[in-house]
Amino acid sequence: MAAGKFLMVGAGLSGAVIGRHLAEAGHRVTVIDSRPHAGGNCHTERDADTGVMVHVYGPHIFHTDDAEVWDYVNSFETFKPYKNRVKSTTRGLSGQQEVFSLPVNLHTINQFFRKTMRPEEAHSFIVNEQADTSIENPETFEEQAMRFVGKDLYEAFFKGYTIKQWGMHPSELPASILKRLPVRFNYDDNYFFHQFQGMPENGYTAMIEKILDHENITVQLETEFSAEMGEAHDHVFYSGPLDGYFGYELGRLGYRTLDFERFTHQGDYQGCAVMNYGEEEVPYTRITEHKHFSPWESHEGSVLYREFSRLAEPGDIPYYPVRQVKEKELLAAYVKLAEATAGVTFVGRLATYRYLDMDVTIREALDAARGFAACLDKGEAAPAFFTAPL
Ligand code: UDP
Repeated sequence: MAAGKFLMVGAGLSGAVIGRHLAEAGHRVTVIDSRPHAGGNCHTERDADTGVMVHVYGPHIFHTDDAEVWDYVNSFETFKPYKNRVKSTTRGLSGQQEVFSLPVNLHTINQFFRKTMRPEEAHSFIVNEQADTSIENPETFEEQAMRFVGKDLYEAFFKGYTIKQWGMHPSELPASILKRLPVRFNYDDNYFFHQFQGMPENGYTAMIEKILDHENITVQLETEFSAEMGEAHDHVFYSGPLDGYFGYELGRLGYRTLDFERFTHQGDYQGCAVMNYGEEEVPYTRITEHKHFSPWESHEGSVLYREFSRLAEPGDIPYYPVRQVKEKELLAAYVKLAEATAGVTFVGRLATYRYLDMDVTIREALDAARGFAACLDKGEAAPAFFTAPL
């Protein structure tokens, strides 16, 4: 099979992983990105004043159950042990602000209700005295929370936070958003329950640059994609916003964007990497203290982000897809346009308009690269999507 000439639009995880796979198979790959750095929203950068590794577009914690993906990232970068232990400052039953452990676990429950219950006692307390077990099939975020933790914990930890994060009442959001978070009847306060979890020693950008470091790959930063560029290649993998590819001709897919209010501190500001704020009255959702994402390093100075969420306007960085009924209808229309577009495959978080964790992005990119190689072998045209966005 003759070597092809392929264009990756976007130097984030999807573009890097697919590009690398094709480069290793002997193809020529060009990776472009409109930003001045690789890494997409995982981008990390060492702060010049404090030496702290900053997660420039907000915190990214690598966690997975996928052994192949874990081996893959470890083949490019050393992953240091890191467990995400999140705290929440919110009003307890006393009406005062208190600090609690997240995700909701036995410590949270005992502290919140001022009790000393053992696991089984806490379980029957929540099921019999807190949870609304009349809700059989929770469909909304609110129903899911009421069904599994009950009103008191829901209001303290989830209601205000979610209204701030999504700009919508939890009764308008799907249960799937809350299903990301476990409720535990033991003292395990690891935010994630995946087998593998860690942080790249030199940051995500260094890891992604190593993935891109191959003799068959050319990286061009600060380069906008154009149709002519696509025509000069045998196939395009596009990881930018799906609606953006089509010049927003049918309208814009709704996103939440984040504003980070950066501040510095001498010493340890909050004693942990992530402090959530459950109350609606506190305008930010969380404060992240970036040096705690690299617990093996030590820095006197500290860099922190107060995180505010709002609806994205044109020109804002898209973070969380809104995916309400209206957006799904628009998405379906864009999917039709994409399927009628020859020579382009849409990959990753933005081009498939989904809330994707890093490990899933890599898994899908590996699968897309293999699927594409199989198409080349058979002389078939590659599909617009290897993972359906709907
Ligand atoms: N959430 C909440 N309270 C919290 C943390 C999360 O209500 O203290 C809800 C919120 O709606 C959020 C969802 O759970 O969007 C998923 O949380 P996760 O921490 O996975 O969000 P991410 O870090 O991806 O923004």
